[in-house]
Amino acid sequence: MEKSLSQTWDLDVFFPGGSRSPEFARFLEALEAEIGSFEERLGAAGQAGAGGVPPLKDLVGTLQDLQNRMSEAGAFVSCLTAQDVKDEQAKLLEGRVRQLSSRLQAALTRFEALLRQVPEETWHQVVADPALAPVAFALNEMRQRAAEKLPPEQEALATALAVDGYHAWSQLYHTVVGRITIPFETDGKTVQLSVGQAFNRMMEDPDRSVRQTLFARWEEAWAREAELCAAALNHLAGFRLALYRSRGWDSVLKEPLDRNRMSQATLEAMWDVVNRNKDHLVAYLQRKARILGVERLAWYDLSAPIGKLTRRIPYDEAAEFIVENFRRFSPDMADFAARAFRERWIEAEDRPGKRPGGFCTSFRVSRQSRIFMTYSGTPGGVSTLAHELGHAYHQHVMNDLPPLVQNYAMNVAETASTFAEMVVVDAAIQAAASPEERLALLEDKIQRSVAFFMDIHARFLFETRFYEARKKGLLTVADLNGLMLEAQKEAFRDALGEYHPHFWASKLHFYITYWPFYNFPYTFGYLFSYGVYAQARAEGPSFADRYVALLRDTGRMTVEDLARKHLGVDLTQPDFWQSAADLVVEDIREFLRLTE
Ligand SMILES: [Zn+2]
Repeated sequence: MEKSLSQTWDLDVFFPGGSRSPEFARFLEALEAEIGSFEERLGAAGQAGAGGVPPLKDLVGTLQDLQNRMSEAGAFVSCLTAQDVKDEQAKLLEGRVRQLSSRLQAALTRFEALLRQVPEETWHQVVADPALAPVAFALNEMRQRAAEKLPPEQEALATALAVDGYHAWSQLYHTVVGRITIPFETDGKTVQLSVGQAFNRMMEDPDRSVRQTLFARWEEAWAREAELCAAALNHLAGFRLALYRSRGWDSVLKEPLDRNRMSQATLEAMWDVVNRNKDHLVAYLQRKARILGVERLAWYDLSAPIGKLTRRIPYDEAAEFIVENFRRFSPDMADFAARAFRERWIEAEDRPGKRPGGFCTSFRVSRQSRIFMTYSGTPGGVSTLAHELGHAYHQHVMNDLPPLVQNYAMNVAETASTFAEMVVVDAAIQAAASPEERLALLEDKIQRSVAFFMDIHARFLFETRFYEARKKGLLTVADLNGLMLEAQKEAFRDALGEYHPHFWASKLHFYITYWPFYNFPYTFGYLFSYGVYAQARAEGPSFADRYVALLRDTGRMTVEDLARKHLGVDLTQPDFWQSAADLVVEDIREFLRLTE
């Protein structure tokens, strides 16, 4: 890469003209019309009645085409709204796309009901048809899920009631969060920080007294709103439990496990190994406490930096470093990343008016991805770039598969991204310019392990216990604080001096109605990726082809089958998980050695 890389992305290649693109307007019109005719065909197929086999081949073809186009439209508007938060036209388009997407979602529910109509005896023949066999996994899964639910009319009623009786609690929670401000004195005057601003400052400010003050205000702020948050949490959980009860599901883990295509045995094996390795993490926390000059770390010390990273890495240098290190594992992944940089797939410019954060989104019709972030030259920026390129590569290797088997679950969604990030972070640690830089990079990496082994574990313990208790009745704010504190102490092995009892109120993940248990898939994804990385390191470049084969199967297998087929391991047993934990332990040993 000789000449300087562009740091803005190219969206015109999809639809020229941004949010005023006439091509995109026409694209949406055509999509809307075809969703309408798909609905009609579904209606007709439903009327044909029981006994008859619906024209599945036709419907499946159209459904996949519509899903692809919907993803293209969704990707385009999310790029538009992210690159300029003041683009009002883009917001209108986003609303329109969301509406179309929920119409397609409703059609999908009707399609699932059709699958359920097919008699058991003929089902096997139907999915063995060469036209349907490549998507048999997805069709079986949809049919199975439909069968485990209430009859379609009752599910339709529950979905309608959920708008105001379930999802509304989540929206109410967001309203509460939106009005919270946290006062903070800086340069002699008091400013009101939003929840997000206060959180970042509280966790990352190098000055402990700043973190401490903000944490006290943070707890106070959530205590003030705790009653409303408790009501939201109690009622959305009550709705969920009532629906599960009428479907005859007794475990609250059934839905999240099914949706992550994993078994209870796998979940237990994973947490067991996490527990068995906690002594190492406790040793790290104790050492960090000593470095910070405190007896025991507090909650607000967990992400505190221990060193200073002052070196700025120019964008071109970051690109080169990423491509070069990808190449050590996979030439294909390296060439892919080089193409993404060269063909302007990445929006990285540091300018005002952009949304914070980063993401990767895929244009499935065009078979390209786009990465959004703000690159400011920090090592964190380099690893974010690598992370998002990992997501893009995952999509890239799946591009030629039928859309219905491209949908991977949350727990494997971070496999390729964490893998890519790890390759680059480890290389950066190796290439560190000074011992201080090396230590700071390593510590940053271990912080993430602490989050997955301890913080996420606390969330899981809390949520499991909360739902059990909620079966018997409502919980008070004091009950919730008590459960949270107990879960944190257990998950952190009593290693902290101060905990965060109102965490259940401050963490929006507990209030996501579309995804129950928004916690354990994170730890799964992290460790799964580490396990894959351990095999890649042991095997060298010959692993690259197996890696691609694994990624391609993430949307059409249970995780147990995926791991058995491509890694030769049994996820319900501890060995694989331990091989992943070994890498975490290796980092901690190195950290302890460097800080002796
Ligand atoms: Zn990610």
